[in-house]
Order: sequence, then structure tokens, then C-alpha cells
Amino acid sequence: MTPFQYARANDVADAIRQIAADPAAKFIAGGTNLIDLMKYDVEHPARLVDISHLPLRDVEETSSGGLRIGALVPNSDLAYHPLIEQRYPLIASAILAGASQQLRNMASTGGNLVQRTRCFYFYDAVTPCNKRQPGSGCSAINGVNRINAILGTSEACIATHPSDMCVALAALEAIVHVAGPAGARTIAFSDFHRLPGNTPQRDTNLEPDEIITAIELPPKGFGTNYSYLKIRDRLSYAFALVSVAAALELEGDTIKEARLAVGGVAHKPWRVAAAEAALRGQRADAGAFAQAAALVLRGAKGYGHNSFKIGLARRAIVRTLSQAARGTPQSQSVKKIR
Ligand SMILES: Cc1cc2nc3c(=O)[nH]c(=O)nc-3n(C[C@H](O)[C@H](O)[C@H](O)COP(=O)(O)OP(=O)(O)OC[C@H]3O[C@@H](n4cnc5c(N)ncnc54)[C@H](O)[C@@H]3O)c2cc1C
Ligand code: SF4
Repeated sequence: MTPFQYARANDVADAIRQIAADPAAKFIAGGTNLIDLMKYDVEHPARLVDISHLPLRDVEETSSGGLRIGALVPNSDLAYHPLIEQRYPLIASAILAGASQQLRNMASTGGNLVQRTRCFYFYDAVTPCNKRQPGSGCSAINGVNRINAILGTSEACIATHPSDMCVALAALEAIVHVAGPAGARTIAFSDFHRLPGNTPQRDTNLEPDEIITAIELPPKGFGTNYSYLKIRDRLSYAFALVSVAAALELEGDTIKEARLAVGGVAHKPWRVAAAEAALRGQRADAGAFAQAAALVLRGAKGYGHNSFKIGLARRAIVRTLSQAARGTPQSQSVKKIR
């Protein structure tokens, strides 16, 4: 075991002070990802700054008609929160498609955004991996890459971001509130996660000394015509091969507004403005959905084991948009376990 120090932060300012004082320190919230990474010899923080007791557990209405979700709200509390169930059911569906009830009880909203890829080689500390050890190479490109990306990849890395919740947050255009030594700032969700480029070791645009304090949801929740579809190798307790978050605003059969984000295919939730624009003003039918899918997948590239994802994603997008349009959001019944 690699020894590390442990300290509890008293408040947000103290958390920032402690993280800024030690470049080898990391925050720990629910610990469901970080502790695994430490056990697998992937991450070696010299100091853990425990933020799990900070007062960031509220879900509050904002003056603009949206919601502000504290970074430490557990994933299960968020999924079952009445305001989320009623106004943002796309988020509840996405969260409940992830992990297990026990994990969702521990996992925090902020930690979910910063969880790391599930690329097999990233977790296997004896194989080359540019994300784990920059410059060492990418074992996945010519390796077992069934779960890897088909969009936005680089020669350095073809990893995907594994979160379900983030796919829904991307579709709803959430805003990430962060704070650091230089003060507080906001990051649009589309700018939060990065593409790998030649710096795959950086997953997000969060600075190492910044803490996520909250996620803000805009007023529009698309509570009637929405669907989150997750395709995976097992029906539960597995990460997405492909997932789709779709949200529509309809006027009769005509699409007034469309949001579409795809998970399991890229280093970040994948949104294509042209696909959403192409849906606007169209009749909500299979032809329009197929056209949007083609736009989302423009430039998609398979690496062998994962080439099937291109066709799978195309069909999943059409199916998810069809479910959203019909107002039948679930592909299979989701039993509530409280
Ligand atoms: C077996 C298993 C299956 C899973 N399946 C799924 C799944 O199907 N879908 C899915 O979406 N997820 C899944 N997960 C992942 C799970 O959702 C994440 O591990 C969890 O959301 C991370 O939150 P946490 O609070 O435990 O983070 P931690 O493990 O505590 O931290 C993770 C990272 O986030 C950083 N961090 C935490 N909070 C903050 C903050 N406020 N500000 C800045 N940095 C912060 C930490 O420093 C660390 O780097 C699974 C996990 C496991 C173990
Ligand atoms: S895809 Fe990325 S995470 Fe996976 S082995 Fe290659 S560099 Fe590492």
C-alpha cells in the first residue's frame, strides 16, 4: 500500500486552501472511484482532503426558475428528489441506469463528473497508457477496444467518459459552479469535459486546485417528451456501450426544440448542434430521427472490436428519439428501489 495522509476540510475555503497547498493532494467525496484507482495502483495521492462533510447537499430553486444542486448531493437522493422527478426526469432516468443502489447512495454529484474512464488498460498499471502515464503509448488502439470511443478520438487516446448522469446534464445544458484560489466561476457543461487530443491525462477543464460546488439546471426540463436509453453488456451494474439522452418540445407532431447527447462513444458526452438544428421544425418521425443520427455520427471511426458501436449508436439514437416523441421514456420498466 502507498501511504497517504488524510484530512477533513472544515468548509469550502479550507478545502481550497488544503488542495492548493499540496499538488499531490486530491479531494475525496463518496470515494467510489478514487479508492478503486488507489487500490489498482493508478492514482497515488499523497494526501486525501475529505470534502464529504461540507454543506453542499441542498437542491434549491434558483431565481431564474432552474435548480441548483449541491456537489455533495448523493446520486440516489438526486434521482428521487421530487423536483428532479417532476421537472427533470431525464436526469433521474440517467442516474438510475448507472451503477447499483449502494454505489448511488455513496456517489456524489460532483464526483460523478470527475470519475475517470473505464478503459481496461487505464486500470492495468503494467500496460502502456497515455492517460495514466503520458508518453507511454495507447494499448487500446490496437488492443481490446470494445468499450472505447468512436468519436473525437486522437492518436494518443480513444477512451470514453463513463458517466450516465453527465449525458443527461449535457443534453439539458447544465452549468458547473466551481471555486478555487482565484475565486468562483462557472463552466458550461459542454466545456467541462475535454477531448483527449495530445493531453489525454487531462479529463476536464477543472483546475487541480478547484472544487465543484454545485450544478445548475436551466429552467427547461423537458419533463414530457424525454428518454434515456442505455445499451450495455449486462442489464444492470455495467457501464454504457452506447447511451442516448433525448429531449423534445413538440407542437402537435412538429419538433419545436430538440436536445440530443450520446454517451459511451467519446471522451465527453457527445452533442452535435447541427443534428439538433436539423430536428427543429421537422415532423417527429423516423426519417427525421435517422437524419439526426447520421449527423451525430458524422466522422465516426471504429478501431476493430468497437466498430459495431457505429451502427448501434445510430439505431439507439432513432429509438430514443422515438420513445421521447411518443412520451414513453423507458425501454424497459424501471422498478424503484428506495
Ligand atoms: C462497480 C461500479 C459501477 C459503476 N457503474 C456506473 C455506471 O453504470 N454509470 C455511472 O455513471 N457511473 C458508474 N459508476 C461510477 C460512479 O458513479 C462514480 O464512481 C461516482 O459517481 C463518483 O462519485 P464519488 O463521490 O464517489 O467520487 P470520488 O471517488 O470520491 O471522487 C472521484 C474523483 O472526483 C474528484 N472529486 C469528487 N468530488 C469533487 C468535487 N466536489 N470537486 C472536485 N473534484 C471532486 C475526486 O478528487 C476524484 O478525483 C460505477 C462505479 C463502480 C465502482
Ligand atoms: S484509450 Fe486512453 S485510457 Fe485507454 S489505453 Fe489508450 S491512452 Fe490509456
